[in-house]
Amino acid sequence: MTATQPRPTTNNVGIPVASDNDSLTIGTNGPILLQDHYLIEKNAQFNRERVPERVVHAKGGGAFGFLEVTNPEIANYTKAALFQPGVRTESLVRFSSVAGENGSPDTWRDPRGFAVKFYTTEGNYDIVGNNTPVFFIRDPIKFPDFIRSQKRRADNHLRDHDMQWDFWTLRPESAHQVTWLMGDRGIPSSWRHQNGYSSHTYLWENAGGEKFWVKYHFKTDQGHGYLTQADADRIAGEDADYFIRDLYNSIKKGDHPSWSLKVQVMPYADAADYRFNPFDLTKVWPHGDYPLIDVGRWVLDRNPENYFAQIEQSAFEPSNLVPGIGPSPDKMLQGRLFAYPDAHRYRIGANYQQLPVNAAKSPVNSYGKDGAMRFSNPSDPVYAPNSYGGPHADPAIAGETASAYGVEDEVVRSAYRLHSEDDDFGQPGTMVRNVWNDGERERFVDNVTGHLLADVSEPVLQRAFEYWKNVDKEQGEKIEAKVREGLGQPYDK
Ligand code: NDP
Repeated sequence: MTATQPRPTTNNVGIPVASDNDSLTIGTNGPILLQDHYLIEKNAQFNRERVPERVVHAKGGGAFGFLEVTNPEIANYTKAALFQPGVRTESLVRFSSVAGENGSPDTWRDPRGFAVKFYTTEGNYDIVGNNTPVFFIRDPIKFPDFIRSQKRRADNHLRDHDMQWDFWTLRPESAHQVTWLMGDRGIPSSWRHQNGYSSHTYLWENAGGEKFWVKYHFKTDQGHGYLTQADADRIAGEDADYFIRDLYNSIKKGDHPSWSLKVQVMPYADAADYRFNPFDLTKVWPHGDYPLIDVGRWVLDRNPENYFAQIEQSAFEPSNLVPGIGPSPDKMLQGRLFAYPDAHRYRIGANYQQLPVNAAKSPVNSYGKDGAMRFSNPSDPVYAPNSYGGPHADPAIAGETASAYGVEDEVVRSAYRLHSEDDDFGQPGTMVRNVWNDGERERFVDNVTGHLLADVSEPVLQRAFEYWKNVDKEQGEKIEAKVREGLGQPYDK
């Protein structure tokens, strides 16, 4: 065949087909024959092209790259192979927005997912983070409620600010994340110009059996960028895929974005009486208490060749933890350990871990077998223990860090035990007063005001003013005055 001759079209099992254009009919005007198996295969396949979109984080994009450890001292805190001196590990990221459906504008105000997979020599390690270090709630029993309040109403299928503020103001632990969301970082200028955070606390264990609590920070080397609400609204109309395009084009032209990976490390024993509950996802660990320690350089240098196969079907799960790394008692993390693999089984199928993008690059000696779409199976023996040479679990190799923290207590349903400085408004207040400048505070007041003026009703509105005055009295009063003015109502502070 010469270069100018196209390859012959075949059906899905390689049989050459007669036409790309005309169905098989009885006569030119006659009905279509059921025996046109290619016509039927083509349309049946089309009807099944979509997998269910993610219930959250539906809209996203991603890329491949690597992590290179540049600080050899990090191995003092964990024995995980990917964090040993000089190690370079292949990586995948999926960035996303949270509440919008697949196809929604990239520039809607929303936290961004920052899900990273490392194909390590000890199996896949996933950090399923966000571009913020905190979250709206601290107990997974509230997650479906929270997400429903951000998505669409039952009656008219519209998103609804009244519903959003109703939930937020009834759950004041949301204040830190909502403050962040209404600030400049609530709409980054691109996925390249934002940090990533594990948000959760994890447990690290070093080769000597010493344990530490850690939080991960991916600090952008591109610098931070933000969009004003007006610019974000305009771009949403002009190019709904603005962030996907930016990342793809940047990597394509060789401008490879990078992040400096750092960690905060808390000695194991500090957790018990630290001034904040270190496992509460609505709190940060102030840098003054636990400074950032360098780990390495994380670079994105390769675009996906196929969006569906490598990004839509990519599956990240915080339960992918390698030897030397375990979970903490963070309740949101505990909930996600279950929720993520469960969502993948529903969305992609029981054998999603065999898809090339999700498959480990280290040996897999699992006893998992069979099921829909399975294409590689273990050979006999298919049970353990056995006396026929099958894989044999070795606790010394697994080094199960997960079981490292001791718990002995009564079974209860209760909020976190409060540490001395725990409250819902202190840390967001610090950000507003001590981290932001005047311009940031002004834009924050405008962003909140615009959001509240979109059909938020009494008494939710009044609760929102109290919520913001609890974060910062001065900014809360400004918000109330501006909203009352916008509604044409008198305001008397
Ligand atoms: P620091 O002054 O040591 O750190 C404040 C951090 O805030 C900065 O290092 C930076 O972190 C981040 N930051 C800077 N500008 C903004 C912005 N416009 N919007 C959001 N975050 C910004 O103080 P603390 O560590 O004591 O934290 C003070 C407050 O800052 C916290 O209560 C929290 O609200 C917020 N913050 C704290 C972080 C932490 O992990 N300690 C991380 C981010 C925010 P970065 O380099 O990660 O961008």
